[in-house]
Amino acid sequence: MMVVMAPHATPEEIDNLTKSIEAQGFSAHRSDGKEQTVIGVVGIVERDVDPRQFEVQKGVAQVVRISSPFKLASRQFQTADTVVAISDRLAVGEREVVLMAGPCTIENAAQVEAIAPTVKKAGAKIMRGGAFKPRTSPYSFQGMGEEGLKLIRRAADAHGLAVVSEVMDRSQIEMMLNYVDILQVGARNMQNFDLLKDLGKVRKPILLKRGIAATVQELLLAAEYIMAGGNRQIILCERGIRTYETSTRNTLDLSAIPVIKSQSHLPIVVDPSHATGIRALVAPMARAAIAAGADGLLIEVHNQPERALCDGAQSLLPAQIEELATQISGIARAIGREFSAAA
Ligand code: PEP
Ligand code: MN
Repeated sequence: MMVVMAPHATPEEIDNLTKSIEAQGFSAHRSDGKEQTVIGVVGIVERDVDPRQFEVQKGVAQVVRISSPFKLASRQFQTADTVVAISDRLAVGEREVVLMAGPCTIENAAQVEAIAPTVKKAGAKIMRGGAFKPRTSPYSFQGMGEEGLKLIRRAADAHGLAVVSEVMDRSQIEMMLNYVDILQVGARNMQNFDLLKDLGKVRKPILLKRGIAATVQELLLAAEYIMAGGNRQIILCERGIRTYETSTRNTLDLSAIPVIKSQSHLPIVVDPSHATGIRALVAPMARAAIAAGADGLLIEVHNQPERALCDGAQSLLPAQIEELATQISGIARAIGREFSAAA
């Protein structure tokens, strides 16, 4: 942390600030510039410090954080990319980009049985489908719960697919571990710290989605919660953030991909379905996400989107996911990565 003193800070103000830094157990390293004095706060005490406690002091212009507030999730802590192993044959964060696809929500056996071979054919390795749905309205379909998980597991197994599904509450974790390969934390739960802490004790990968109003730093701090608990197997997911733009459901922040790649070693995938909310926009943004360096995609696909219980308008049709997969293959190759569209 660096404290930048105001141009006309008095020697007494500088002295007072230095004393208060030292009183906190840090050492103050002073550097006198031509116009301003800068004080480096260097600490051996490994605890979080609220920069405001220095900011409010007399004669201080600005406090700048130097070391990142997240440690385990940071590139400084680990320079090599994290590869999240889903099974002994499948990993996220390697050269190959990974497609996760399936319905917004599990509706019945026939639905997941129809969608599983479709996404498999397109080259998906992981089937998505919610059994617990965080719906904005309490009157909307809330998901099938454990019965739904049984259905998606069976449909995915029949086609050699892994399963990702959302966990909404700590009480669901243990039961869900019997059915899923990856536990998804939805945007609305990104800062459910008790849930994140419990997921730190889990020994399965976590797909952590960015909150609708979360900064990249807040996303990485949410990942830090899980990592601090001992689970380092985290896949981040950019799914759009809420802005003043109304022509799309959210605004897809593609720059978050290279930003996260520079700040963290964790893999990141993109969900263009919830980011745009509109079927016609999903493929262009999926292509852009791969071009920008995403490690994979999370895409909603439905065999009968017009009859879907949830998010039909943003779900791709079977033919559309196949066409997109072929395009992804070409884009991945162009940037030195791989995606095999054919199952
Ligand atoms: C989902 O992926 O099913 C979902 C609800 O997405 P989000 O949490 O990003 O809104
Ligand atoms: Mn959805």
